[in-house]
Amino acid sequence: MKDTIYTIPLTDAFKADDECPFCNIKRKLEQDAISFILGCAYMEDDIRANTDEVGFCHEHYKKMYDYGNRLGNALMLHTHLIKLQKELNEKIEGFTPTKAGMFAKLKRPKTVEDTTGNIISHWAKEKEHSCYICDSYNKNFTRYMGTFFYLIESNEEFKTLFKNSKGFCVPHFGEIMALADTQLSDKCKEEFYTTLFDLMKQNLKRIEEDVSWFIDKYDYKNKDADWKNSKDAIPRAMQKLGSIYVQDAPFKEK
Ligand SMILES: [Zn+2]
Ligand SMILES: [Zn+2]
Repeated sequence: MKDTIYTIPLTDAFKADDECPFCNIKRKLEQDAISFILGCAYMEDDIRANTDEVGFCHEHYKKMYDYGNRLGNALMLHTHLIKLQKELNEKIEGFTPTKAGMFAKLKRPKTVEDTTGNIISHWAKEKEHSCYICDSYNKNFTRYMGTFFYLIESNEEFKTLFKNSKGFCVPHFGEIMALADTQLSDKCKEEFYTTLFDLMKQNLKRIEEDVSWFIDKYDYKNKDADWKNSKDAIPRAMQKLGSIYVQDAPFKEK
C-alpha cells in the first residue's frame, strides 16, 4: 500500500472495528487540535491572532474547558473578547433599525430563523459557527476523504478493508455521498455505490436488531439470556445516527 501521511491513520481507522472509521478519524483530529492549541500554540502570535479572530464554537468551548489548562483558556478568551468588542462596536455604529410597518406586524415570524435578520444578528450567528478547532480539523478531514477515494480507486487491499467495515454513521455517509461523484472515476462508481449501499443497509439493520434485543432484555423472561451484542447498543446506535461517541470520558490534559 502506497503510504502518504494520511494512508496509515486512515487504514488504522478502518481496522479499528468502529461503527464509522471517519468518526474515529474525526475524534483523533479533534483531540490533536485541542491539545495543540491548549498545549502552547496559544502563545504564538500568528496562531493567537487567528483564535482572536475566529473564536470557538459552543461544542469546542465545552471540550476546551474539560481539557484543562485554565490559564491557557483564560488568555485566549481575554484577547478574543477584546477583538470581539472592537468588531461589535463597529457593527453598532453601522446599525439602523428597520421600520416595522403594519404589514410586518401582521406577518410576525414564528421562529427566529424565519426572520431576515440584520447586520448584528448575522454577525452574532456567524460567531456561533466560527471555530478555530472546527477549521483546523475540517482542513485535515477533507484530506482524509480525498485519500479514502484515492485508495478506493487504486488499492485492492484497502477495498477489502472497506468491504469488511461496519459502514459509516449517517452524517459521514452523507459526506461520502456528496463527494463520491466528483472524486471517483465512472468505472469505479457502480461497484463503489453497490458496496456502500449494501454496507449501510446491512449495518443499520444490525444496529436496529442490537437495540431491539437490548429492549427485549428488559423482559423478565429474558433476564438470564445472553446479551449478545446489545450491551453497548445505545452508544453505538447514537454514533451511527449522530456521529458522536456518547460514552467517551472528557478528553483531558495529561
Ligand atoms: Zn462517522
Ligand atoms: Zn468547533
